[in-house]
Amino acid sequence: MKLILLGAPGAGKGTVAKLLTQIDGSVQISTGDILRGAVAAGTELGKKAEAAMKAGDLVSDDLIMGIMEERLKEDDCKAGYLLDGFPRTIPQAEALKELLEKMGEKLDCAVEIDVPREVILDRLTTRRTCTECGEIYNVKSNPPKEEGKCDKCGGPVVQRDDETEEAISNRLNVYNEQTAPLVDFYRNEGLLLSVKATSSEAVIDAIKEKLGIN
Ligand code: AMP
Repeated sequence: MKLILLGAPGAGKGTVAKLLTQIDGSVQISTGDILRGAVAAGTELGKKAEAAMKAGDLVSDDLIMGIMEERLKEDDCKAGYLLDGFPRTIPQAEALKELLEKMGEKLDCAVEIDVPREVILDRLTTRRTCTECGEIYNVKSNPPKEEGKCDKCGGPVVQRDDETEEAISNRLNVYNEQTAPLVDFYRNEGLLLSVKATSSEAVIDAIKEKLGIN
């Protein structure tokens, strides 16, 4: 399947994407993960992206489109892809549309995961992430077995730099101003599936129903 996952930070895009990869082998492509990897590795890309990310601002459209043009041409994308955190602005959505037309590919749908603001805030302030493998934990509902250590890979589990209260509040404002307009964009394209749900299972069920998957 070829899907876009839309939704505020903390809406559950990554969790839903991970579950969907198990259905048909589609790959999860998270621009946030790619950028965090580049920052950790100290590459040119990482150096360009780091300050904006730390403040909860968006990285430039040009930088993101450069990454995605390369990524979508890789072999593993032939099985399908779940775009998690991309596109995030109208110019990115327009550039993606043009790119997919050039590649002769069509999206199945753009899924908006609509979660109340209180739930988002609670999730983001209690979320912890493994810096090695990206596994997500929650200090209240799903802590690692050993504090600060990833169950899967043993890497350090920490609060992300952009999950301070100030950066979270900025990320939510940035979402409302720059990314929320994509909901109308994809509605006009006839591709929108909007799901109001706080459980990833309910989101998966709605996607399966829309795509006719049993
Ligand atoms: P995420 O993990 O998706 O919340 O992304 C973390 C941060 O990476 C964002 O707050 C942005 O600074 C940056 N980022 C990720 N994806 C994009 C994108 N498509 N466009 C611009 N910036 C992005």
